[in-house]
Amino acid sequence: MSYVDEVLQSVIEKNPAQPEFHQAVKEVLESLRVVIEANEEQYRKDALLERLITPERQLLFRVPWVDDKGQVQVNNGYRVQYNSAIGPYKGGIRLHPSVNLGIIKFLGFEQTFKNSLTGLPIGGGKGGSDFDPKGKSDREVMAFCQSFINELYKYIGADTDVPAGDIGTGAREIGFMYGQYKRLTGLYEGVFTGKGLSYGGSLARKEATGYGLLYLTAEMLKCNGQSIEGKTVAVSGAGNVAIYAIQKAQQLGAKPVTCSDSTGWIYDPEGIDVALLKEVKEVKRARLTEYAAARPSAVYHEGKGVWTAKVDIALPCATQNELLLEDAKALVANGVMAVAEGANMPTSMEATEYFQNNGVLFCPGKAANAGGVATSALEMSQNSERLSWTFDEVDAKLKTIMTNIFHNLDDAAKKYGMEGNYVAGANIAGFLKVAEAMTAQGIV
Ligand code: NDP
Repeated sequence: MSYVDEVLQSVIEKNPAQPEFHQAVKEVLESLRVVIEANEEQYRKDALLERLITPERQLLFRVPWVDDKGQVQVNNGYRVQYNSAIGPYKGGIRLHPSVNLGIIKFLGFEQTFKNSLTGLPIGGGKGGSDFDPKGKSDREVMAFCQSFINELYKYIGADTDVPAGDIGTGAREIGFMYGQYKRLTGLYEGVFTGKGLSYGGSLARKEATGYGLLYLTAEMLKCNGQSIEGKTVAVSGAGNVAIYAIQKAQQLGAKPVTCSDSTGWIYDPEGIDVALLKEVKEVKRARLTEYAAARPSAVYHEGKGVWTAKVDIALPCATQNELLLEDAKALVANGVMAVAEGANMPTSMEATEYFQNNGVLFCPGKAANAGGVATSALEMSQNSERLSWTFDEVDAKLKTIMTNIFHNLDDAAKKYGMEGNYVAGANIAGFLKVAEAMTAQGIV
């Protein structure tokens, strides 16, 4: 049996009931076959793949907090410190009822490659809780965040592990977590990214993942003889990534016509009104029905269906496994030409293969959404310097980073005889740097 097959089999045996983690490992290792087989003897002797897929440290802890009725609630807390070969652990904190260890591990594993692709010195990590901030009062959210940090503060720090936002963790949650960390440690340091601008945050961090997604998509189209201008776009999600993806798509001359949330989706043939979407989602924290009520051109549909819209470009920006084979078939039948993932692993493996086999340009999340973590690393640099850069400075660096990421993965795909396979290119380019650093640092 090949080394890759052996490791794939052992991942399933050693990590039962973690389907998202199995899926992420399989997707990466399958596309690394050609690289691994070229160095199989050495990698096997060093157990490089086993070390790569096993997190350096996994923290699981109790998070008790008191709700507004005086009732004690208990949630599970997680932080998976995946790989520190190229820098301190770096990755967001997800607050969502679906969170479990397998999901945090899949996200931490992906993060390791993504962070490597940015070219910046950051390792991979991820954390979270099954706490649901939706419908909670500010005081309840604060009580949860403080309790979460009461345990986690022992394991994080500006040079060891730097968490950030993710689903359910926005500026409010980061503020509460940072405040509690500072209180417990007495340290005013860059331990979180995505901070508010008044206490060490970076301009353009909020916009970075969505903007970066569009910079990379535009570059991918350009290198394939196309332009983003005048294209119609389907975006899923209505959160941080989706909102700023829609905004940048419009700035680049494209027309996003959809967005969605966990209950339904909007089709707006006039183009999404970003100011209204921000008002509904960022200010009122309301459902998309409110968008439709305020916008005559928009139609609201209950449930799933965003991928049935006829568009040139699809940008899944909500959550994992939200674009399945039947969705890919619908998009291809409607003439989609490019797909780039704003969310982490939103496209199933079958759907990804369907796109690739039907000539659709496909860029995976670990490259396409790396603008968020890249700008987090720029926030860390500003914190270390005790300086703040302007919006335009950060945005220009982001654009350069995203353009470089695309060319790195394009070059890697070409070098290994898989031109146009950006999934393989991203995995190979991300892997090679981490593998080299791990090998140089010995068996640790
Ligand atoms: P937000 O919480 O801001 O937004 C998530 C959006 O997706 C919301 O509109 C939410 O709906 C919707 N959503 C969440 N879960 C589901 C579900 N199960 N079914 C349908 N819709 C769902 O998160 P972000 O925008 O920050 O993150 C979105 C994705 O991007 C995630 O995969 C995240 O890991 C990834 N990502 C985020 C980065 C960042 O910088 N924020 C960086 C890189 C990747 P509702 O409004 O109803 O809650």
